[in-house]
Amino acid sequence: MKISKVMVIGSGTMGSGIAQVLAENGYDVILNDIKEEFVARGQLSIIKRLEKDVTKGRKTEKEKDEIISRFQLSTDYSDAEDVQLVIEAATENKAIKLDIFKKVAELAPDETILASNTSSLSITEIANATNRPEKVIGMHFFNPVPVMNLVEVTRALTTDDHTAETILKLSEEIGKTAIDVTDSPGFVVNRVLIPMINEAIFTVYEGIASMEEVDESMKLGANHPMGPIALADYIGLDVCLAIMTVLYEGFNDSKYRPCPLLKKYVEAGRLGRKTGSGFYNYS
Ligand code: NAD
Repeated sequence: MKISKVMVIGSGTMGSGIAQVLAENGYDVILNDIKEEFVARGQLSIIKRLEKDVTKGRKTEKEKDEIISRFQLSTDYSDAEDVQLVIEAATENKAIKLDIFKKVAELAPDETILASNTSSLSITEIANATNRPEKVIGMHFFNPVPVMNLVEVTRALTTDDHTAETILKLSEEIGKTAIDVTDSPGFVVNRVLIPMINEAIFTVYEGIASMEEVDESMKLGANHPMGPIALADYIGLDVCLAIMTVLYEGFNDSKYRPCPLLKKYVEAGRLGRKTGSGFYNYS
């Protein structure tokens, strides 16, 4: 089966980025969301990024127009009737995702592959909500999608080899480096990164060093471009806590216990850059 047309469900930060990269690489893309205004917002964010590329000389006006012409906008999952791949990048909520997969699986052709960009939910559980668990897979992109080169291709317990090979190949074709991952809490990147951030917060919580000193230590001593606490503010402290909780519950292992100080910041609504303050102030 040749993939030429893809439906991207969810037109937010990740969905618009995924749709852009697909269209830049010659795929026809249906951009879907629950309301027309959300789809329009997603498409506008893509157009703005493409216009910037033209201004900076990275693309010609003609290339930009060709990319834009590959988009179709949708608020109806039945538009998946002629796509070979669906990539879901909707809100990180299990009930929403299970509902989307169940509905889309009933509407898309039998051979269509269904992928999820979830950061933390079980691909195996999502697959089980569909009529084709062997054709469901994780495609975990990173933000911002046009810039970040990794895709974690995550096999559910039920994913067949043909589906995995097709998606690994497609990920490389759109210019990404794909790693072949077995479904497990946090996959690879978040399993390694978020406990490191959590441990950094513990060093502050226990009074071992100030947050500025912890960040400076990791920049100078481990050559990290950004300190872990500044990075936590950038990712969002609620997102860090949610992923830590998924690891803790997924493995039933106390080594993944979220730091009480991280929980306090989330309870206070100080979620990082997006709320103007987290561990650091941004206003
Ligand atoms: P976002 O809030 O920017 O966008 C989510 C979009 O999904 C919204 O436009 C929303 O209207 C839409 N949506 C909600 N329910 C829907 C439904 N039933 N049908 C169609 N659309 C629906 O979120 P985001 O940051 O783009 O995250 C999307 C997914 O990508 C999540 O699973 C998240 O965990 C994952 N992810 C996010 C990042 C990141 O850094 N933001 C990185 C990797 C993966």
